[in-house]
Amino acid sequence: MKDEREGNGDTETRRHGDTETKAKSSHHRLPSSTDSVATSSPVSSVSESPRQSFHRSKRFGQNFLTDQRIIDRIIAAFGPRADETILEIGPGRGALTAHLLERAGSVIAIEFDRNLIPLLTEKFGAKKNFKLVQSDALVTDVCDLIRPAKQSRVVANLPYNVGTAILQRLIEQRHCLSEMVLMLQKEVVERITAPAGSGNRGYLSVFVQTYCETERLFEVAPSSFRPAPKIWSTVLRLRLRPQLNLDEKDEKLLWQVVSAGFAQRRKTILNNLRNSSPPLQAIVKSHGGASIMLCQAEVDLQRRAETLTLEEWLRIVRVLE
Ligand code: SAM
Repeated sequence: MKDEREGNGDTETRRHGDTETKAKSSHHRLPSSTDSVATSSPVSSVSESPRQSFHRSKRFGQNFLTDQRIIDRIIAAFGPRADETILEIGPGRGALTAHLLERAGSVIAIEFDRNLIPLLTEKFGAKKNFKLVQSDALVTDVCDLIRPAKQSRVVANLPYNVGTAILQRLIEQRHCLSEMVLMLQKEVVERITAPAGSGNRGYLSVFVQTYCETERLFEVAPSSFRPAPKIWSTVLRLRLRPQLNLDEKDEKLLWQVVSAGFAQRRKTILNNLRNSSPPLQAIVKSHGGASIMLCQAEVDLQRRAETLTLEEWLRIVRVLE
């Protein structure tokens, strides 16, 4: 799947055997890692030439929010508090950051594009509650970054070419995150929130819904961004759920099973499990084979993966324990 927001030309690969994708963007190969940027430089008013205002990098999925009503709605939905540390992924030119800094105890912003660092430093560098980190959110340890805070909430207008990959990375670090308000492609949010039985349901839906309560907040038209993308966006609230009642080994098994289940969407869960990877097949065989195992989990053999509820996926894993 290509970046649908602006068609950035990056090749994307399928993720976890589902239709979810991960960009093979060239930015993964950039030499930078996590460099903290000094934020003590004096702030002066930023005068931007029209040329600067329009500059943006397609590679970093840059569609900057310019619609003040939408910015206000995101901030109101997020509700920054004076007693908390907030994490912003991809501050860009600071459209959300400025408002977060007014209300939050502390704001840690992770921006990958080096070219935006001077602008952000100039705008917000003098704010005591601001920390800017030049880093790739796909490899950043956010729990480490927010210290001494133990928990944080995330707000982001995510770069759409790697939006689902960043979301997955954040969920993997859920022990230090309680809530996220994220803007993503409308179509991706439809997949994330798809209930059992929906044609949009895939690995990403099961993965996100297992760890988060999802709430679609509102849609955003292309005209709210500069440059305007070709597609609509949706703002989504994710509340991290308490820990899953599975140990690490079974959690790994859960994602192997879900991935295998969705491998070929037209096939039944039975056929997909029969054709799964040799290690998973070995586990299934040691429990009597796919049909016996599915019967024990009380899942009809002819069902397709998209019809299974979270509870049913968990039942399958419990049979395989
Ligand atoms: N928050 C700004 C706004 O709403 O106008 C910018 C949003 S723009 C859609 C996405 C931002 O994420 C850009 O600033 C881009 O440079 C940054 N970005 C892209 N890939 C990133 C990554 N892997 N890690 C951190 N930031 C990234």
